[in-house]
Amino acid sequence: MTIIGNPEIGLYTGKLPKGCELCRLGGKLVLFITGECDDNCYYCPVSDDRFGKNRIFANETEVKDAMDVIYEAYRMKALGAGITGGDPILEIGRVIEIIDKLKNEFGSDFHIHLYTTGRYVNDDVMKELVSAGLDEIRFHPVKELYLNAVKIALKYDIDVGLELPAIPNEGDKIVRLVKWAEENNVKFVNLNELELNARNYLNLNSKGLHAKHGITGVEGSFNTALDVLKKFEEDKKITVHYCSSVYKDLVETRTRFFRIIKYNSKPYEEYTNEATIVRAIVKTNHKIPLLENFGEFNGSHEYSVSPSIIKDLLNEYTDLIDEIYIVEEHPDSRRLRVGEKLIYSKSKNG
Ligand code: SF4
Repeated sequence: MTIIGNPEIGLYTGKLPKGCELCRLGGKLVLFITGECDDNCYYCPVSDDRFGKNRIFANETEVKDAMDVIYEAYRMKALGAGITGGDPILEIGRVIEIIDKLKNEFGSDFHIHLYTTGRYVNDDVMKELVSAGLDEIRFHPVKELYLNAVKIALKYDIDVGLELPAIPNEGDKIVRLVKWAEENNVKFVNLNELELNARNYLNLNSKGLHAKHGITGVEGSFNTALDVLKKFEEDKKITVHYCSSVYKDLVETRTRFFRIIKYNSKPYEEYTNEATIVRAIVKTNHKIPLLENFGEFNGSHEYSVSPSIIKDLLNEYTDLIDEIYIVEEHPDSRRLRVGEKLIYSKSKNG
């Protein structure tokens, strides 16, 4: 067996876990079910505005309930969902309700995986998760004691994996865990490149861990993961998969955004290579046929139209138009505006 993939995105031996496969297609809804967690990892990447807070996010959007989650899943035509936190098991009732509703809405093939430390996983929890339809469970065993939960999960008909941060200089510990996983028939071990962010950078820096490249990956984390992968390269029993921080932070989001654009953009919206949406906003007090026929009325004397008709619009109706902006936005429901340019103003150009 060989190591497959690309170091910038991810490397793996064997068969990629199903949850990761669908994530690579941009088809996984990221469901942050709660920020509550009773552990306290020094490298925890969960941001201050989420960690410890009982808040729910579907992709980047804060939501209230299962219906909001289903709406977000429709927007991106999701193929599945990854439930994360915090420790989702602290809100087990909410988790079960949402798995149940997602499976009812999208069918049993809608693939759902869940991350947990294992601290609160017991037989009762596993029975509930499995009967709701959970397909895959991934343990981040921050204490050796939590490996008992992995053993419990292995009794059920569900894919079980480990999810470990690739901490530099902890290669031996990771190898021990992968061997333990293999001996216990765990299906895969995911090694995540250690990520430096606003919440954890002081903790990481104080341990001599610093950012390596462009974005957030910690120096030495990739090499630690690569050494582990090489050790299990010829192993047929277990998959070892390295996931880069660039993939998690940029590629995953961009791939998911392209999917939202593909299934949810409006006819007048254009898209960029960075998976953002571009549209023109036209402000006028008049009824203009080009806008009525090819645009959308936003209210307050404002229309959204394709930037491609702006030239015709200005040629024919300059006197009737007050302002035109070109705006660039993320395609998800928050519509975060990343660029705005005034290209025509009656008071300046007229
Ligand atoms: S278990 Fe996860 S959420 Fe909890 S502190 Fe550790 S990294 Fe953060």
